[in-house]
Amino acid sequence: MRLCDIGEFGFIDRIAPMGLIRPEHVVRGIGDDCAVIELDDVNCLLITTDLLVERVHFQRSWSTAHILGRKALAVNVSDIAACGGIPRDAFVSIAVPGHIELEWLESFYQGMTSLAGEFDINVLGGDTTRSRSDLVINVALTGVVPRDEVLLRNTAQPGDIIVLTGPTGQSAAGCEILLHQHQIPDSLADPLTKAHLDPRPHVKEGRFLATCHCCSAAIDVSDGLSSDLGHICSQSGTGALLCEDKIPLTEALSSACRHMGRDPLDLALHGGEDYVLIATIKEASLSRLEDEAKHQGIDLFPIGILQEKPGIEIVRRSGITEAVPPRGWNHFTKTSE
Ligand code: ADP
Ligand code: MG
Repeated sequence: MRLCDIGEFGFIDRIAPMGLIRPEHVVRGIGDDCAVIELDDVNCLLITTDLLVERVHFQRSWSTAHILGRKALAVNVSDIAACGGIPRDAFVSIAVPGHIELEWLESFYQGMTSLAGEFDINVLGGDTTRSRSDLVINVALTGVVPRDEVLLRNTAQPGDIIVLTGPTGQSAAGCEILLHQHQIPDSLADPLTKAHLDPRPHVKEGRFLATCHCCSAAIDVSDGLSSDLGHICSQSGTGALLCEDKIPLTEALSSACRHMGRDPLDLALHGGEDYVLIATIKEASLSRLEDEAKHQGIDLFPIGILQEKPGIEIVRRSGITEAVPPRGWNHFTKTSE
């Protein structure tokens, strides 16, 4: 058997039970956006790590070293946000092919520390080694969150309302524009390519959800709405019913999709790397939360409801209900886009 037979998540499910040797103080190990460890009676430590590999996750020709440095840290900050936490200290390891210039690496660090400055994060260590071909970047990041505010994937319930903190599909459209060099006016392409190259982690939104005491679960959109909502559903033992009418589609996404001959709903449901949050909210608290969000300048888009029936479904504009098979990014499976 090879990894492509079971996929990234099948592999993680197989190794997860092996990891827990010393369970005391571990609130959550393998399986969530961050590991969650009790620090004291009040606070938990969050730890997350992400690997970026040249030609798998990024092309150096698509952006500057500065922007890539920002993204390498941002994807980790997003996992801290998904758990409701405040990011703290980063560790950065790089495997560098011999042909990369020192100026490029310094610019990469300047980009990374510019994002670190925006979120008050230290870079406290890492490792540097030689690579034979591609550039490999690993960032590990810690964060903190009060124990009673931590947001997990496995705590949602049927009847909870599914909300997004921003539109999805933007990053996938931007990636497609970069990949296929579609001739699209800059005014349409720029917000989409920016969403892909320089995403904003939703820390403010994560703290808002963590402190509202009506958010039952959360995850960030790294692999795609269908895939990441699927993690909340499978881990919480629920299904989900989405409403096509409620899925936010930006004007830039819709117009760019017309140019590219793509379906914007398809990108919004299955495109990855938007780094907005999916959260589930107790229905009785939704309108209060929407008022508070508006007051604080936070976007909340209710897009559906969790249901007992397993799997994800969508009510189309026509009134017909269809199944939505999870089809976001999954390394190793034959269905990866
Ligand atoms: P995210 O997309 O939020 O970064 P992933 O899908 O990458 O999350 O990972 C899901 C879970 O599996 C996380 O808890 C992560 O730490 C864990 N994980 C992923 N790969 C490995 C691995 N090789 N060994 C141990 N844990 C892993
Ligand atoms: Mg995540």
